[in-house]
Amino acid sequence: AHVPSQLVAPDAIFGEGRRNSTGFDISDERTLAAIQPGPEAPAEDVAPRMIGPATGTRRAVTNPATGAVIGHALMADAETVGRAIGAARIWQAPAPERAAALRRAADLFEDHHARIFDILCREAGKSLGDAIAELREAVDFLRYYAAEGEGATRAPRGIVAAISPWNFPLAIFTGQIAAALMAGNAVIAKPAEATPLVADLAVRLLHEAGVPAAALQLVPGDGGVVGTALSSDPRIGGVVFTGSTATAQTIARHMAKHLSPGTPLIAETGGLNAMIVDSTALPEQAVRDIVASSFRSAGQRCSALRCLYVQEDIAPHLIAMIRGAMDELHVGNPRELRTDVGPVIDARAKAGIEAYLEANAPRVLHRVPAPEGGCFVAPTLLKVDGIADLDREVFGPVLHVATFRGHEIPRVIADINARGYGLTFGLHTRIDTRVQEVTDAVHVGNTYVNRNQIGAVVGSQPFGGEGLSGTGPKAGGPNYLPRFFAPEPGAGAM
Ligand code: GLU
Repeated sequence: AHVPSQLVAPDAIFGEGRRNSTGFDISDERTLAAIQPGPEAPAEDVAPRMIGPATGTRRAVTNPATGAVIGHALMADAETVGRAIGAARIWQAPAPERAAALRRAADLFEDHHARIFDILCREAGKSLGDAIAELREAVDFLRYYAAEGEGATRAPRGIVAAISPWNFPLAIFTGQIAAALMAGNAVIAKPAEATPLVADLAVRLLHEAGVPAAALQLVPGDGGVVGTALSSDPRIGGVVFTGSTATAQTIARHMAKHLSPGTPLIAETGGLNAMIVDSTALPEQAVRDIVASSFRSAGQRCSALRCLYVQEDIAPHLIAMIRGAMDELHVGNPRELRTDVGPVIDARAKAGIEAYLEANAPRVLHRVPAPEGGCFVAPTLLKVDGIADLDREVFGPVLHVATFRGHEIPRVIADINARGYGLTFGLHTRIDTRVQEVTDAVHVGNTYVNRNQIGAVVGSQPFGGEGLSGTGPKAGGPNYLPRFFAPEPGAGAM
Protein backbone atom coordinates (compact mmCIF):
# COMPACT_ATOMS: atom_id res chain seq x y z
CA ALA A 1 0.00 0.00 0.00
CA HIS A 2 1.02 3.57 -0.57
CA VAL A 3 2.36 5.32 2.54
CA PRO A 4 2.51 9.07 1.86
CA SER A 5 5.94 10.54 2.61
CA GLN A 6 4.00 13.63 3.67
CA LEU A 7 2.86 11.62 6.70
CA VAL A 8 5.97 9.64 7.59
CA ALA A 9 8.35 12.55 7.11
CA PRO A 10 10.23 14.20 8.61
CA ASP A 11 11.40 11.41 10.95
CA ALA A 12 11.70 8.80 8.24
CA ILE A 13 13.72 11.10 6.03
CA PHE A 14 15.61 13.39 8.33
CA GLY A 15 15.89 11.68 11.73
CA GLU A 16 14.39 12.64 15.09
CA GLY A 17 15.14 15.61 17.28
CA ARG A 18 14.24 19.22 17.94
CA ARG A 19 11.89 20.65 15.33
CA ASN A 20 11.40 24.13 13.99
CA SER A 21 7.99 25.34 12.82
CA THR A 22 8.29 23.43 9.54
CA GLY A 23 8.73 20.20 11.47
CA PHE A 24 12.43 19.66 10.83
CA ASP A 25 15.06 18.75 13.33
CA ILE A 26 17.23 21.83 13.19
CA SER A 27 19.54 20.74 15.99
CA ASP A 28 21.04 18.10 13.73
CA GLU A 29 23.67 19.22 11.26
CA ARG A 30 22.98 16.38 8.86
CA THR A 31 19.34 17.37 8.71
CA LEU A 32 20.20 21.00 8.22
CA ALA A 33 22.50 20.07 5.37
CA ALA A 34 19.85 17.83 3.81
CA ILE A 35 17.22 20.54 3.67
CA GLN A 36 19.37 23.33 2.32
CA PRO A 37 18.71 24.29 -1.26
CA GLY A 38 21.64 23.62 -3.55
CA PRO A 39 23.91 26.47 -4.62
CA GLU A 40 22.25 28.91 -6.99
CA ALA A 41 22.54 27.29 -10.39
CA PRO A 42 23.69 29.39 -13.36
CA ALA A 43 20.95 30.81 -15.60
CA GLU A 44 19.36 28.11 -17.67
CA ASP A 45 17.95 28.11 -21.16
CA VAL A 46 15.04 25.72 -21.67
CA ALA A 47 13.09 24.86 -24.79
CA PRO A 48 10.20 22.53 -25.46
CA ARG A 49 11.24 18.96 -24.70
CA MET A 50 9.53 17.31 -27.64
CA ILE A 51 9.96 15.23 -30.74
CA GLY A 52 10.51 17.54 -33.69
CA PRO A 53 11.59 21.16 -34.01
CA ALA A 54 10.29 23.86 -31.65
CA THR A 55 9.73 27.45 -32.67
CA GLY A 56 8.54 30.43 -30.66
CA THR A 57 9.79 33.37 -28.65
CA ARG A 58 12.54 33.29 -26.04
CA ARG A 59 11.46 34.88 -22.76
CA ALA A 60 13.25 35.63 -19.47
CA VAL A 61 12.31 33.81 -16.26
CA THR A 62 12.73 36.00 -13.18
CA ASN A 63 13.11 35.47 -9.45
CA PRO A 64 10.13 37.19 -7.79
CA ALA A 65 12.14 37.92 -4.63
CA THR A 66 14.91 39.82 -6.41
CA GLY A 67 13.87 40.49 -9.99
CA ALA A 68 17.02 38.71 -11.19
CA VAL A 69 16.84 36.84 -14.48
CA ILE A 70 17.40 33.16 -13.63
CA GLY A 71 16.90 31.68 -17.07
CA HIS A 72 15.08 31.81 -20.37
CA ALA A 73 12.39 29.67 -21.91
CA LEU A 74 11.37 29.27 -25.50
CA MET A 75 7.65 29.98 -25.45
CA ALA A 76 6.18 27.75 -28.15
CA ASP A 77 3.95 28.89 -30.98
CA ALA A 78 0.79 27.08 -32.11
CA GLU A 79 2.62 25.25 -34.94
CA THR A 80 4.96 23.72 -32.38
CA VAL A 81 1.99 22.44 -30.39
CA GLY A 82 0.62 20.85 -33.55
CA ARG A 83 3.96 19.10 -34.18
CA ALA A 84 4.09 17.79 -30.61
CA ILE A 85 0.56 16.40 -30.92
CA GLY A 86 1.50 14.74 -34.19
CA ALA A 87 4.55 13.09 -32.61
CA ALA A 88 2.77 11.91 -29.44
CA ARG A 89 2.53 8.13 -28.91
CA ILE A 90 0.65 6.39 -26.12
CA TRP A 91 2.80 4.49 -23.63
CA GLN A 92 2.46 0.84 -24.64
CA ALA A 93 4.49 -0.76 -21.82
CA PRO A 94 2.50 -3.00 -19.45
CA ALA A 95 1.12 -1.29 -16.33
CA PRO A 96 3.69 -2.78 -13.91
CA GLU A 97 6.51 -1.38 -16.07
CA ARG A 98 4.90 2.04 -16.14
CA ALA A 99 4.52 1.91 -12.35
CA ALA A 100 8.17 0.95 -11.95
CA ALA A 101 9.26 3.92 -14.08
CA LEU A 102 7.14 6.34 -12.02
CA ARG A 103 8.67 4.95 -8.83
CA ARG A 104 12.16 5.41 -10.28
CA ALA A 105 11.20 8.99 -11.08
CA ALA A 106 10.12 9.49 -7.45
CA ASP A 107 13.55 8.28 -6.31
CA LEU A 108 15.28 10.60 -8.78
CA PHE A 109 13.20 13.55 -7.54
CA GLU A 110 14.38 12.79 -4.00
CA ASP A 111 18.00 12.39 -5.11
CA HIS A 112 17.84 15.83 -6.74
CA HIS A 113 16.18 17.55 -3.78
CA ALA A 114 18.83 20.25 -3.33
CA ARG A 115 18.53 21.33 -6.96
CA ILE A 116 14.72 21.19 -6.81
CA PHE A 117 14.60 23.33 -3.62
CA ASP A 118 16.90 25.85 -5.30
CA ILE A 119 14.65 26.20 -8.35
CA LEU A 120 11.41 26.25 -6.34
CA CYS A 121 12.77 29.03 -4.11
CA ARG A 122 14.13 31.13 -6.95
CA GLU A 123 11.62 30.54 -9.72
CA ALA A 124 8.37 30.27 -7.72
CA GLY A 125 9.35 32.24 -4.59
CA LYS A 126 8.59 29.19 -2.42
CA SER A 127 9.76 29.35 1.16
CA LEU A 128 12.10 26.49 1.97
CA GLY A 129 9.42 24.86 4.13
CA ASP A 130 6.94 25.03 1.27
CA ALA A 131 9.53 23.72 -1.19
CA ILE A 132 10.16 20.70 1.02
CA ALA A 133 6.41 20.03 1.35
CA GLU A 134 6.01 20.41 -2.40
CA LEU A 135 8.72 17.89 -3.23
CA ARG A 136 7.14 15.39 -0.86
CA GLU A 137 3.75 15.90 -2.48
CA ALA A 138 5.18 15.38 -5.98
CA VAL A 139 6.93 12.18 -4.88
CA ASP A 140 3.73 10.99 -3.22
CA PHE A 141 1.70 11.56 -6.39
CA LEU A 142 4.17 9.43 -8.37
CA ARG A 143 4.14 6.58 -5.87
CA TYR A 144 0.40 6.79 -5.19
CA TYR A 145 -0.74 6.60 -8.81
CA ALA A 146 1.86 3.88 -9.44
CA ALA A 147 0.30 1.83 -6.61
CA GLU A 148 -3.25 2.56 -7.77
CA GLY A 149 -2.59 1.69 -11.39
CA GLU A 150 -0.07 -1.12 -11.51
CA GLY A 151 -2.78 -3.79 -11.71
CA ALA A 152 -4.87 -1.96 -14.31
CA THR A 153 -5.68 -3.55 -17.65
CA ARG A 154 -7.80 -0.82 -19.22
CA ALA A 155 -6.91 1.19 -22.35
CA PRO A 156 -5.83 4.84 -22.20
CA ARG A 157 -7.78 7.77 -23.64
CA GLY A 158 -5.03 8.79 -26.03
CA ILE A 159 -3.26 12.14 -25.88
CA VAL A 160 -3.87 14.08 -22.68
CA ALA A 161 -3.06 17.78 -22.36
CA ALA A 162 -1.87 18.67 -18.83
CA ILE A 163 -2.08 22.40 -18.06
CA SER A 164 -0.72 23.30 -14.65
CA PRO A 165 -0.33 26.35 -12.36
CA TRP A 166 2.68 28.20 -10.99
CA ASN A 167 1.60 27.91 -7.34
CA PHE A 168 2.45 24.18 -7.23
CA PRO A 169 4.79 24.05 -10.22
CA LEU A 170 6.22 20.68 -9.22
CA ALA A 171 3.48 18.93 -7.20
CA ILE A 172 0.42 19.65 -9.34
CA PHE A 173 2.48 19.47 -12.53
CA THR A 174 3.73 16.01 -11.53
CA GLY A 175 0.38 14.80 -10.20
CA GLN A 176 -1.43 15.48 -13.47
CA ILE A 177 1.31 13.84 -15.52
CA ALA A 178 1.73 10.83 -13.24
CA ALA A 179 -1.97 9.93 -13.40
CA ALA A 180 -2.20 10.38 -17.17
CA LEU A 181 0.98 8.37 -17.77
CA MET A 182 0.04 5.62 -15.33
CA ALA A 183 -3.10 5.07 -17.42
CA GLY A 184 -0.87 4.69 -20.50
CA ASN A 185 -1.71 7.98 -22.21
CA ALA A 186 0.64 10.20 -24.17
CA VAL A 187 0.99 13.48 -22.28
CA ILE A 188 1.69 16.96 -23.56
CA ALA A 189 2.43 19.12 -20.53
CA LYS A 190 2.15 22.90 -20.55
CA PRO A 191 3.75 24.37 -17.44
CA ALA A 192 2.70 27.79 -16.16
CA GLU A 193 4.35 30.76 -17.90
CA ALA A 194 6.23 31.71 -14.72
CA THR A 195 7.67 28.28 -13.89
CA PRO A 196 9.16 26.45 -16.91
CA LEU A 197 12.49 25.63 -15.23
CA VAL A 198 11.27 23.27 -12.53
CA ALA A 199 8.94 21.67 -15.08
CA ASP A 200 11.88 21.05 -17.39
CA LEU A 201 13.87 19.40 -14.61
CA ALA A 202 10.89 17.20 -13.66
CA VAL A 203 10.42 16.04 -17.25
CA ARG A 204 14.12 15.35 -17.64
CA LEU A 205 13.99 13.12 -14.54
CA LEU A 206 10.84 11.35 -15.75
CA HIS A 207 12.55 10.59 -19.06
CA GLU A 208 15.65 9.40 -17.23
CA ALA A 209 13.41 7.08 -15.21
CA GLY A 210 12.21 5.42 -18.39
CA VAL A 211 9.16 7.36 -19.61
CA PRO A 212 9.45 7.39 -23.43
CA ALA A 213 10.06 10.77 -25.07
CA ALA A 214 6.98 10.39 -27.29
CA ALA A 215 4.78 9.61 -24.26
CA LEU A 216 5.78 12.76 -22.39
CA GLN A 217 6.51 16.05 -24.15
CA LEU A 218 6.89 19.43 -22.46
CA VAL A 219 5.70 22.53 -24.30
CA PRO A 220 6.18 25.77 -22.36
CA GLY A 221 4.28 28.78 -23.65
CA ASP A 222 1.49 31.26 -23.10
CA GLY A 223 -1.93 30.00 -22.13
CA GLY A 224 -3.54 31.93 -24.96
CA VAL A 225 -1.27 30.19 -27.49
CA VAL A 226 -0.28 26.76 -26.19
CA GLY A 227 -3.32 26.20 -23.95
CA THR A 228 -5.67 27.28 -26.72
CA ALA A 229 -3.92 25.15 -29.36
CA LEU A 230 -4.03 22.08 -27.11
CA SER A 231 -7.65 22.40 -26.00
CA SER A 232 -8.84 23.21 -29.52
CA ASP A 233 -7.20 20.23 -31.23
CA PRO A 234 -9.47 17.30 -32.09
CA ARG A 235 -6.56 14.85 -31.63
CA ILE A 236 -6.57 15.53 -27.84
CA GLY A 237 -8.39 12.87 -25.82
CA GLY A 238 -8.68 14.80 -22.57
CA VAL A 239 -7.53 17.92 -20.74
CA VAL A 240 -6.48 18.09 -17.10
CA PHE A 241 -6.24 21.64 -15.81
CA THR A 242 -5.56 23.48 -12.56
CA GLY A 243 -5.88 27.26 -12.50
CA SER A 244 -8.52 29.93 -12.49
CA THR A 245 -12.24 29.30 -12.90
CA ALA A 246 -12.30 31.73 -15.84
CA THR A 247 -9.56 29.85 -17.70
CA ALA A 248 -11.31 26.51 -17.07
CA GLN A 249 -14.43 27.98 -18.64
CA THR A 250 -12.43 29.16 -21.67
CA ILE A 251 -10.89 25.69 -22.09
CA ALA A 252 -14.35 24.11 -21.86
CA ARG A 253 -15.55 26.42 -24.65
CA HIS A 254 -12.61 25.47 -26.88
CA MET A 255 -13.24 21.80 -26.21
CA ALA A 256 -16.96 22.09 -26.86
CA LYS A 257 -16.28 23.49 -30.33
CA HIS A 258 -13.76 20.94 -31.49
CA LEU A 259 -13.87 17.77 -29.43
CA SER A 260 -16.33 14.95 -29.18
CA PRO A 261 -18.77 15.30 -26.28
CA GLY A 262 -17.12 12.44 -24.38
CA THR A 263 -13.76 14.17 -24.08
CA PRO A 264 -13.27 14.94 -20.43
CA LEU A 265 -12.08 18.14 -18.82
CA ILE A 266 -10.78 17.57 -15.33
CA ALA A 267 -10.48 21.00 -13.74
CA GLU A 268 -9.40 22.22 -10.32
CA THR A 269 -10.03 25.93 -10.02
CA GLY A 270 -10.50 28.81 -7.61
CA GLY A 271 -11.92 29.04 -4.14
CA LEU A 272 -13.36 31.54 -1.70
CA ASN A 273 -12.73 29.50 1.39
CA ALA A 274 -14.15 30.15 4.84
CA MET A 275 -13.52 28.98 8.38
CA ILE A 276 -15.91 29.18 11.34
CA VAL A 277 -14.45 29.46 14.84
CA ASP A 278 -17.04 29.24 17.60
CA SER A 279 -16.67 30.23 21.23
CA THR A 280 -15.80 26.69 22.34
CA ALA A 281 -12.69 26.51 20.14
CA LEU A 282 -9.23 26.28 21.65
CA PRO A 283 -7.83 29.71 20.79
CA GLU A 284 -4.14 28.74 20.63
CA GLN A 285 -4.88 25.93 18.21
CA ALA A 286 -7.31 28.01 16.14
CA VAL A 287 -4.86 30.89 15.78
CA ARG A 288 -2.03 28.66 14.65
CA ASP A 289 -4.31 27.05 12.04
CA ILE A 290 -5.76 30.38 10.88
CA VAL A 291 -2.32 31.85 10.31
CA ALA A 292 -1.05 28.77 8.46
CA SER A 293 -4.19 28.57 6.31
CA SER A 294 -4.04 32.23 5.33
CA PHE A 295 -0.37 33.08 5.04
CA ARG A 296 1.61 29.96 4.16
CA SER A 297 2.70 30.03 0.52
CA ALA A 298 2.03 33.79 0.81
CA GLY A 299 -1.68 32.89 0.55
CA GLN A 300 -1.16 31.57 -2.98
CA ARG A 301 -3.08 28.34 -2.60
CA CYS A 302 -6.52 27.73 -3.94
CA SER A 303 -7.21 25.99 -0.62
CA ALA A 304 -6.19 29.05 1.46
CA LEU A 305 -8.48 30.60 4.05
CA ARG A 306 -9.94 33.87 2.76
CA CYS A 307 -12.84 34.64 5.11
CA LEU A 308 -12.73 33.83 8.81
CA TYR A 309 -15.92 33.91 10.89
CA VAL A 310 -15.34 34.29 14.63
CA GLN A 311 -18.11 34.06 17.22
CA GLU A 312 -18.69 37.52 18.65
CA ASP A 313 -18.02 36.66 22.32
CA ILE A 314 -14.42 35.58 21.67
CA ALA A 315 -13.67 37.90 18.74
CA PRO A 316 -11.74 40.68 20.54
CA HIS A 317 -9.51 38.14 22.26
CA LEU A 318 -9.01 35.92 19.21
CA ILE A 319 -8.30 38.82 16.85
CA ALA A 320 -5.72 40.18 19.28
CA MET A 321 -4.05 36.78 19.23
CA ILE A 322 -4.11 36.66 15.43
CA ARG A 323 -2.43 40.05 15.30
CA GLY A 324 0.23 38.82 17.68
CA ALA A 325 0.82 35.70 15.61
CA MET A 326 1.03 37.78 12.42
CA ASP A 327 3.73 39.90 14.06
CA GLU A 328 5.81 36.74 14.43
CA LEU A 329 5.73 35.99 10.69
CA HIS A 330 9.01 36.52 8.94
CA VAL A 331 8.48 37.86 5.43
CA GLY A 332 11.59 37.66 3.30
CA ASN A 333 14.16 35.63 1.42
CA PRO A 334 12.57 32.29 0.57
CA ARG A 335 15.89 30.46 0.78
CA GLU A 336 16.18 31.05 4.53
CA LEU A 337 14.65 28.47 6.82
CA ARG A 338 13.27 31.17 9.12
CA THR A 339 11.13 32.67 6.35
CA ASP A 340 7.40 32.01 6.70
CA VAL A 341 6.16 34.17 3.84
CA GLY A 342 8.02 34.62 0.56
CA PRO A 343 7.12 36.88 -2.36
CA VAL A 344 4.03 36.62 -4.54
CA ILE A 345 4.65 35.28 -8.01
CA ASP A 346 5.29 38.47 -10.00
CA ALA A 347 4.99 42.24 -10.16
CA ARG A 348 1.54 42.07 -11.72
CA ALA A 349 0.22 39.89 -8.90
CA LYS A 350 1.73 42.25 -6.34
CA ALA A 351 0.20 45.31 -8.01
CA GLY A 352 -3.22 43.66 -8.14
CA ILE A 353 -3.20 42.70 -4.46
CA GLU A 354 -1.91 46.11 -3.42
CA ALA A 355 -4.60 47.87 -5.45
CA TYR A 356 -7.18 45.73 -3.65
CA LEU A 357 -5.68 46.62 -0.27
CA GLU A 358 -5.64 50.30 -1.14
CA ALA A 359 -9.28 50.22 -2.22
CA ASN A 360 -10.10 48.52 1.09
CA ALA A 361 -7.80 50.63 3.27
CA PRO A 362 -10.53 51.62 5.77
CA ARG A 363 -11.06 47.93 6.55
CA VAL A 364 -7.45 47.15 7.46
CA LEU A 365 -7.13 45.83 11.03
CA HIS A 366 -3.51 44.77 10.91
CA ARG A 367 -0.47 44.61 8.63
CA VAL A 368 3.01 43.30 9.18
CA PRO A 369 6.09 44.72 7.52
CA ALA A 370 7.41 43.27 4.30
CA PRO A 371 10.77 43.98 2.65
CA GLU A 372 11.00 46.76 0.09
CA GLY A 373 11.84 45.69 -3.44
CA GLY A 374 10.94 42.29 -4.80
CA CYS A 375 7.37 41.07 -5.08
CA PHE A 376 6.66 41.01 -1.35
CA VAL A 377 3.19 41.80 -0.05
CA ALA A 378 2.63 42.55 3.64
CA PRO A 379 0.36 39.96 5.29
CA THR A 380 -2.83 41.86 6.02
CA LEU A 381 -5.99 41.36 8.08
CA LEU A 382 -9.19 43.09 6.91
CA LYS A 383 -12.51 43.50 8.72
CA VAL A 384 -15.63 42.57 6.73
CA ASP A 385 -19.29 41.88 7.52
CA GLY A 386 -19.18 38.57 5.73
CA ILE A 387 -18.07 36.64 2.66
CA ALA A 388 -20.46 38.68 0.50
CA ASP A 389 -18.05 41.62 0.92
CA LEU A 390 -15.27 39.77 -0.93
CA ASP A 391 -15.65 40.70 -4.56
CA ARG A 392 -13.12 38.12 -5.82
CA GLU A 393 -10.49 35.60 -4.81
CA VAL A 394 -7.47 37.70 -3.79
CA PHE A 395 -4.58 35.31 -4.38
CA GLY A 396 -2.17 36.51 -1.73
CA PRO A 397 -1.52 36.94 2.00
CA VAL A 398 -4.81 38.69 2.78
CA LEU A 399 -7.26 37.43 5.41
CA HIS A 400 -10.77 38.81 5.93
CA VAL A 401 -12.45 38.46 9.32
CA ALA A 402 -16.13 38.72 10.21
CA THR A 403 -18.01 38.06 13.43
CA PHE A 404 -21.26 36.19 14.04
CA ARG A 405 -23.62 35.50 16.93
CA GLY A 406 -24.15 31.94 18.14
CA HIS A 407 -27.59 31.51 16.54
CA GLU A 408 -26.39 32.83 13.16
CA ILE A 409 -24.42 29.77 11.98
CA PRO A 410 -27.12 28.68 9.47
CA ARG A 411 -27.09 32.16 7.94
CA VAL A 412 -23.28 32.16 7.75
CA ILE A 413 -23.31 28.81 5.96
CA ALA A 414 -26.02 29.98 3.56
CA ASP A 415 -23.82 33.01 2.74
CA ILE A 416 -20.80 30.79 2.12
CA ASN A 417 -22.77 28.40 -0.09
CA ALA A 418 -24.34 31.31 -1.99
CA ARG A 419 -20.95 32.33 -3.40
CA GLY A 420 -20.95 29.21 -5.57
CA TYR A 421 -17.38 28.10 -4.86
CA GLY A 422 -16.78 24.94 -2.90
CA LEU A 423 -13.18 24.04 -2.28
CA THR A 424 -12.10 24.01 1.36
CA PHE A 425 -13.80 24.87 4.62
CA GLY A 426 -12.51 24.94 8.19
CA LEU A 427 -14.33 24.55 11.49
CA HIS A 428 -12.97 25.03 14.99
CA THR A 429 -15.37 23.84 17.68
CA ARG A 430 -15.54 21.40 20.55
CA ILE A 431 -19.25 20.69 20.14
CA ASP A 432 -19.54 17.25 18.54
CA THR A 433 -23.05 17.72 17.16
CA ARG A 434 -22.03 20.99 15.54
CA VAL A 435 -19.30 19.25 13.55
CA GLN A 436 -21.89 17.03 11.90
CA GLU A 437 -24.46 19.80 11.38
CA VAL A 438 -22.02 22.23 9.83
CA THR A 439 -20.13 19.78 7.64
CA ASP A 440 -23.42 18.41 6.29
CA ALA A 441 -24.68 21.87 5.41
CA VAL A 442 -21.64 23.43 3.77
CA HIS A 443 -21.07 22.59 0.09
CA VAL A 444 -17.33 22.08 -0.32
CA GLY A 445 -14.91 19.41 -1.45
CA ASN A 446 -12.64 19.38 1.61
CA THR A 447 -13.72 20.13 5.18
CA TYR A 448 -11.14 20.31 7.93
CA VAL A 449 -12.11 20.22 11.61
CA ASN A 450 -9.88 21.65 14.35
CA ARG A 451 -6.85 21.93 12.08
CA ASN A 452 -5.62 24.08 9.21
CA GLN A 453 -7.30 23.82 5.83
CA ILE A 454 -4.32 23.55 3.48
CA GLY A 455 -1.88 20.87 2.45
CA ALA A 456 -4.14 17.94 1.59
CA VAL A 457 -2.10 14.75 1.86
CA VAL A 458 -1.98 12.51 -1.24
CA GLY A 459 -3.74 9.22 -0.62
CA SER A 460 -5.21 10.31 2.71
CA GLN A 461 -7.06 13.51 1.90
CA PRO A 462 -8.21 13.46 -1.73
CA PHE A 463 -8.35 17.10 -2.83
CA GLY A 464 -10.83 18.88 -5.05
CA GLY A 465 -13.92 21.05 -5.02
CA GLU A 466 -17.40 21.42 -6.34
CA GLY A 467 -19.36 24.24 -7.97
CA LEU A 468 -17.09 26.96 -9.39
CA SER A 469 -14.12 25.25 -7.71
CA GLY A 470 -13.83 22.28 -10.02
CA THR A 471 -15.22 19.32 -11.86
CA GLY A 472 -13.91 16.59 -9.59
CA PRO A 473 -12.63 13.85 -9.36
CA LYS A 474 -10.37 14.62 -6.42
CA ALA A 475 -6.62 14.51 -6.97
CA GLY A 476 -4.71 12.03 -4.80
CA GLY A 477 -7.84 9.91 -4.30
CA PRO A 478 -9.14 6.63 -5.75
CA ASN A 479 -11.50 8.22 -8.29
CA TYR A 480 -8.82 10.23 -10.10
CA LEU A 481 -6.83 7.66 -12.07
CA PRO A 482 -9.93 5.89 -13.52
CA ARG A 483 -10.82 9.11 -15.35
CA PHE A 484 -7.69 8.80 -17.47
CA PHE A 485 -8.71 5.49 -19.03
CA ALA A 486 -10.96 5.19 -22.07
CA PRO A 487 -14.56 4.59 -21.02
CA GLU A 488 -15.43 0.92 -20.63
CA PRO A 489 -17.67 -0.37 -23.40
CA GLY A 490 -21.26 0.31 -22.45
CA ALA A 491 -20.32 2.85 -19.77
CA GLY A 492 -21.25 6.55 -19.97
CA ALA A 493 -18.84 8.87 -21.77
CA MET A 494 -17.34 10.33 -18.58
N1 GLU B 1 -3.52 20.81 -2.74
C1 GLU B 1 -3.20 22.07 -2.14
C2 GLU B 1 -3.61 22.15 -0.72
O1 GLU B 1 -4.28 21.26 -0.23
C3 GLU B 1 -3.79 23.24 -2.87
C4 GLU B 1 -3.68 23.17 -4.34
C5 GLU B 1 -3.81 24.53 -5.03
O2 GLU B 1 -3.65 25.58 -4.40
O3 GLU B 1 -4.05 24.51 -6.25
O4 GLU B 1 -3.28 23.11 -0.06
